[in-house]
Amino acid sequence: MQRKRQAIPLYMQILLGMGVGIILGVIALYVNAETFISNWITPWGQLFIRMLRLIAIPLIFVTLVKGIAGLKDISKFSRLGIKTLLVYFCFITISVVFGISLGLTVRPGALVNQEIAAGLQETYQSLIAQKTEEAGQVQGQGPLSFLNDLVPDNIISAAANNSAILQVIFFAILFAVASLLVPQEKVKPVVDFFDGLNEIILKMVAFIIRLAPIGVAALMAGLVTDFKGDGSLFSALGLYALTVALAMLIIMYVFYPLMIRLFSRKVGVKAFLRAMYPVQLFAFTTSSSAVTLPVTMKTVEEELKVSKDVSSFVLPVGVTVNMDGTACYQAIAILFISQVLGVDLTLTQILTVLFMTVLSSIGTPGIPGGTYVILAMVLTSVGIPAEGLALIIGIDRPLDMLRTAVNVTGDAAVACMIDKKETGPRLTEPT
Ligand code: ASP
Repeated sequence: MQRKRQAIPLYMQILLGMGVGIILGVIALYVNAETFISNWITPWGQLFIRMLRLIAIPLIFVTLVKGIAGLKDISKFSRLGIKTLLVYFCFITISVVFGISLGLTVRPGALVNQEIAAGLQETYQSLIAQKTEEAGQVQGQGPLSFLNDLVPDNIISAAANNSAILQVIFFAILFAVASLLVPQEKVKPVVDFFDGLNEIILKMVAFIIRLAPIGVAALMAGLVTDFKGDGSLFSALGLYALTVALAMLIIMYVFYPLMIRLFSRKVGVKAFLRAMYPVQLFAFTTSSSAVTLPVTMKTVEEELKVSKDVSSFVLPVGVTVNMDGTACYQAIAILFISQVLGVDLTLTQILTVLFMTVLSSIGTPGIPGGTYVILAMVLTSVGIPAEGLALIIGIDRPLDMLRTAVNVTGDAAVACMIDKKETGPRLTEPT
């Protein structure tokens, strides 16, 4: 009964919110009510972004601890874990490097009308100037100064600083790895505690994401008035969406097949892609790699004949850790926002984007729109105003669907690569 009232799915509500926001903005432009929008409507969008940032640190911390501490069985960890994590890490890094290269080559943000962009830059000038100065200071330091940004000297102050996300990630990883090395009966209460905490935080994230339609409407209305109805934002957004879609298709249909061909003794490319098709469709429609996990497991075990031993380890870890689609997407999104806001990223900042995106995609939950929370945080840490998220959040849903399909395909590809045990001839057709 209760379900009936939610007849409009969230992504439709978000699209509707986007439409309402655009209409509101256009009306405001016609009746000269821009001040009304900036005083009474935009703050609701900013509130939404504040809430995303509010939940980011707890989310990243708990997701990472749960992901790593959940590995429990240390013997399995040393047998399979190190290899799996290494492959995941390589895949994520390649995806991010690819995303950065594409973002820098296509430069979708540069399509925005220069005059309008200059206006936007003025709005965020003080913030950008402050961050650029900070970046300059970093450049003036020694080559190993990034280690200071990585290792906190006080975890409370790191957790209290929205731009110290890397330090929180560092602490979480150290904490979780230590928990693997302590006798399991001793850490069980802690692991159970984190399991519970994870559920609560994911529920909080779900609450916040439910507010997305209102947030998107408010942000969109503000954008339309900021852009004075100029259409160049929409062409820039169109090119940005195309860039993301192209990147996702290349990872899914070129990169993974290549990896399967080179490293999987289990399965051929055709068989892999054919077996994965229903899983990708499921991920595409649900936009959640976590919800897709049972379907991924079933397919990987039954169709791709990967041993249960491998799949039951590689896939659940992959859902938390390995998000190639999300990682590549985050890199393109950050570059797009920086291009629109005229933040010229230095090489150091681009490397920071690379580093941060690799690590923070690991902390992204496998739920619809899980990226928003993380992206708001990463933007702040690389010195781009998180308000820039307003630019892309309206059209995010279809891109989320695509990157989720990539995320689950990546997990399955790694499972096939890790499962070296030969159980008969190489599978070239799905059974
Ligand atoms: N929806 C994605 C997933 O579940 C996460 C994200 O990129 O927002 O894999």
